[in-house]
Amino acid sequence: MVAVPLGIPLVRPAPAGSGAVRPAGLSGLADQHGRVATDLRVSVTDRCNLRCTYCMPAEGLPWLPSGELLTDGELIRVISVATGLLGVREVRFTGGEPLLRPGLPAIVRATGARTSITTNGLRLGRLAVPLAEAGLGRVNVSLDTLDPLRFGALTRRDRLADVFAGLRAAVAAGLAPVKLNTVLMRGVNDDEAPALLEFALEHGYELRFIEQMPLDAQHGWSRSEMVTAAEILAALSSRFTLTPDPSARGGAPAETWLVDGGPAKVGVIGSVTRPFCGDCDRTRLTADGQVRTCLFSVTETDLRGPLRAGASDDDLAELWREAMWGKLPGHGIDDPAFLQPVRPMSAIGG
Ligand code: SAM
Ligand code: SF4
Repeated sequence: MVAVPLGIPLVRPAPAGSGAVRPAGLSGLADQHGRVATDLRVSVTDRCNLRCTYCMPAEGLPWLPSGELLTDGELIRVISVATGLLGVREVRFTGGEPLLRPGLPAIVRATGARTSITTNGLRLGRLAVPLAEAGLGRVNVSLDTLDPLRFGALTRRDRLADVFAGLRAAVAAGLAPVKLNTVLMRGVNDDEAPALLEFALEHGYELRFIEQMPLDAQHGWSRSEMVTAAEILAALSSRFTLTPDPSARGGAPAETWLVDGGPAKVGVIGSVTRPFCGDCDRTRLTADGQVRTCLFSVTETDLRGPLRAGASDDDLAELWREAMWGKLPGHGIDDPAFLQPVRPMSAIGG
């Protein structure tokens, strides 16, 4: 049984086939497959100040019109429904680039749960302190290369020095342990896995490699081109001794290994070749107020419309529960009928 904050009774349903009726009185975000979501990913903007080639085209994307974005007050209200009524215990802010949202420190301050952000780090130099003062717990910074020229080619912006400055600022502001996220691409940066781990060890950052997923706006992902978890582990093993981390993984997407006997660790998120859907504890909210049950969902549940039409917190909570009840058992990337979601990663919130 998953623990939830005091006062929120949770009925965990027995696994059932799809189409099972949702039992009355269910208060948490349970689905029909025995999972309960307690971890909320909130996209606060779909805009970005980088143009990573595996994420979006050079010209950017048609951004959401500002009137469609939840205001800071609306976001805070929806998050409070999740943390207050639905048993959400952890909120991660993402995007797009979450540090582009001016109200982020105020949103973090108003969030009644553990908080973290996933960021490209460009603006951390100036925002690490205000965010730490607002109560932010942790940061994940995306870093795919240590080489400034490669960084320029990969993100289409010459900003690697800003990422390094952001990392230093995060540590100085006490946002530790800082985690690094790396996506490897064949023939682009896949030779850098050991160097990135060495860099992380040297600075006390926790590095996690993420398998590239079919979520790019350009639909350029190909399974055969993707650098797999097995290849990443083989590359790391050429320089380090990796042993399975004995600590419990829980719902965490990363499988972790002790590096050279520990205590340092490295993680690999094998979303495609080692899916962890059976243990997923996530629910997602887009910047325009849509609930998604999965990164790969092809349907969304609108909370913004009801919110603006005067729905109560209980009404919003009920819509969210109903959405989560219909969460599919897995992402189905390996299914020949797999359909990439219409929205790209930057609009869903990675
Ligand atoms: N802009 C922020 C950043 O880059 O950290 C937050 C949003 S970004 C979409 C979140 C994470 O998703 C980043 O670590 C990024 O590298 C990763 N990402 C983006 N597109 C991806 C893809 N197609 N497959 C796997 N990871 C991806
Ligand atoms: Fe921006 Fe993050 Fe996408 Fe890169 S991965 S373009 S930093 S949203």
